[in-house]
Amino acid sequence: MTGTHNRSETAVDVARNYVGGWVEPNGETRGVIDPATGEEIARVHYSTTADVDETVRTAYDAFEAWRATPPAERTQHLFALKRELEERQAEIAHALSREHGKTVAEASGEIRRGIENVEVAAGMPNMLRAGSGVVEGVATGMDESAVRQPLGVFAAVVPFNFPAMIPLWFLPYAVATGNTFVLKPSEKVPLSSQLIFEAVDAAGFPEGVVTLVNGGVGTVDALLTHDDIAGVSFVGSTPVARHIYETAAAAGKRVQAQGGAKNYAVVTDSAVLAEAVPNIVGSVYGNAGQRCLANDVVVGVGDAYDELRARLLDAIDDLVVGPGVDEETDVGPLVTADAQERVLGMIDGAIDEGADLVVDGRDFEHPEYPEGNFLGPTLLEGVTIDMEIARTEIFGPVLCLASVDDLDEAIEMVNGTEYGNASSLYTERGSEARTYRYEVDAGNIGINVGVCAPMGFFHFGGRKGSFFGDLHAQGEDAVNFYTDKTIEIERWYS
Ligand code: NAD
Repeated sequence: MTGTHNRSETAVDVARNYVGGWVEPNGETRGVIDPATGEEIARVHYSTTADVDETVRTAYDAFEAWRATPPAERTQHLFALKRELEERQAEIAHALSREHGKTVAEASGEIRRGIENVEVAAGMPNMLRAGSGVVEGVATGMDESAVRQPLGVFAAVVPFNFPAMIPLWFLPYAVATGNTFVLKPSEKVPLSSQLIFEAVDAAGFPEGVVTLVNGGVGTVDALLTHDDIAGVSFVGSTPVARHIYETAAAAGKRVQAQGGAKNYAVVTDSAVLAEAVPNIVGSVYGNAGQRCLANDVVVGVGDAYDELRARLLDAIDDLVVGPGVDEETDVGPLVTADAQERVLGMIDGAIDEGADLVVDGRDFEHPEYPEGNFLGPTLLEGVTIDMEIARTEIFGPVLCLASVDDLDEAIEMVNGTEYGNASSLYTERGSEARTYRYEVDAGNIGINVGVCAPMGFFHFGGRKGSFFGDLHAQGEDAVNFYTDKTIEIERWYS
């Protein structure tokens, strides 16, 4: 079934800001492009420094009253937000698929993962107890206590690849702990946030507690150094993550900055290939490879290689490329024409460096949508760690196949990049799994799991060039990031 493709059917014409209600910012507008058709489906504002200032001041003014609101009352708005998001889930999924290109099923799945964080943060009155507490009698007649306190206004700057889920890694925790919040979505995919903020609006948060400012690089730079911002959460590419970390930290802010990735999957001869191969294919080609947890290099160990290769080729053959809104699509378009060009360049570069192109998706053209940023599933064989493609994030539907003699050699390859976000091992041997977890320098390890995305009640973050900071997103780390623990030491004389 073919979905809808014209501008009049998008829910939003111009992506606006939400600052105590919907507002029209001063900045210029630019087009939001449907990556499947190449058509402009809406416009988005690029907010100016003055727009940012107005947003942050509104959030700042809302802080004291929100901080004084009892946690159990604050979280009532999260219960309401959960309901409002669930009611809009299908609508958000459709808009998200249009602006991003992923399938509606993938879009719906990410919204569910976002809502999961709203649910976890709704338990904040209890979570706030961890790390607080009193020790009686630390000296004669003296008691000492630690109490968590919010810090003010937090901003989150987020990427294009999970337009609904990633804002919700931050928003619920920031506000449940008593802070106020500014979201800056990716300018490539601003429409999902418009619908999420309709849910925020309906959830009845007091004015200024949750705000939205659209824009690009200039908008972010104005946020990073604003005097009234206490901290910044960032998710995106490594060079920008490093810039955000350095700039905001130099301005005295708390920062957590998640960067890019280069994730390997390793398959040993004990792996159950009938299960492993569809799982690997989902990790590599799902979301057209545009996931920070996508495994884009697959390493066959010893005898595992030949059958792994044969099964992968069979599975790839079945993948359907098309617009995300078409029900039969497995692999949607890349987000922009630039992204498509970049991935094509990486494939050509790998061939020049000696990789064999076994499945060639470079010339794929959709019969109905020749302007779409499509790329067919591609498979390169004979990839080695000295090749650029083995060390650089691809973010496209490309699988690089490598062959090694043993697990030690595989682990050396896995650790041979500047990134440390995630890695997967396919095995039925516990000892191999333990060695892998112990040796691999990555924040997330999947054992027979190709997209090892932690649940909301665990933290999410990588290592090395994949993360700058110490406290990660979600769960207990989020509570620690968004609060400070004040110590009180008391004695009484009368
Ligand atoms: P990006 O770095 O280009 O953009 C991310 C955000 O930063 C956007 O909101 C953008 O407006 C802003 N931005 C871009 N350039 C900037 C600059 N020079 N100064 C200030 N702000 C700037 O990333 P993207 O292309 O939107 O997202 C893809 C990247 O995100 C991939 O590298 C992917 O691995 C990474 N990612 C990481 C995780 C994780 O958990 N580690 C999760 C999702 C995505």
